[in-house]
Amino acid sequence: MNRLVTPKQLTFIHNLLDQVGPETRQTAKAWLDANYTSQREQAYGHGNKLGDLLPRDKASEVIERLLAAKANKAHEEAEERAEQELNDSREMQAREAAEEERRMEHKLAQQAEAEAAELPRYISTDEYPDVPAGRYAVDNADGRLGFYHVQHGKRKWTGKVFVKHHVAGQEDQRMSAAAGRTILARIQADGPEAASARYGHELGHCGLCGRELTNEDSRARGIGPVCADKAGW
Ligand SMILES: [Zn+2]
Repeated sequence: MNRLVTPKQLTFIHNLLDQVGPETRQTAKAWLDANYTSQREQAYGHGNKLGDLLPRDKASEVIERLLAAKANKAHEEAEERAEQELNDSREMQAREAAEEERRMEHKLAQQAEAEAAELPRYISTDEYPDVPAGRYAVDNADGRLGFYHVQHGKRKWTGKVFVKHHVAGQEDQRMSAAAGRTILARIQADGPEAASARYGHELGHCGLCGRELTNEDSRARGIGPVCADKAGW
């Protein structure tokens, strides 16, 4: 009995050969060739078509092998896909992490910039260490003579400097930190001793404590002797 593969089996085999992919198809064909077709070809001496050569009783074995190959291919593809997805997600995570880091760095840089641009609301005694608390006369931004009272904070304000604008006949007016810094810089530039003496000369009051200068020497110096000693002037 040399009955050949049925048309139904043959269709199934061809479909499977289409599905297993070129590599497996080649292997399968080589295997078929080695096991059946070439022998049959030799025996029958005709065409190499599977339908003409594959014995029916071996067709199910071929189908089994092809099904196994197909399952194997599907499994490999699934593994490949999974690996690819894993790589993709790792890549994405790395990209996101890098992006996050860039955002963070940018934010920190912006914060540092903003902090540098925005000076503190209060003037620290460290900013103008050479300007003692006292009263000073300097030319203000308009080029006119102005009188200023520099105070060092006490208790909870310790370490802070406050600058007030002194206008005759009025209460001293508290200046903003920015305006205060401008005046302190001016006092520092003129020299605190000179700026204080100028106050004393102009107003007849001690350039540090503000008391009226009654003594002729003091009036000439623009500062009382006790304050001059205290300041080391
Ligand atoms: Zn004084």
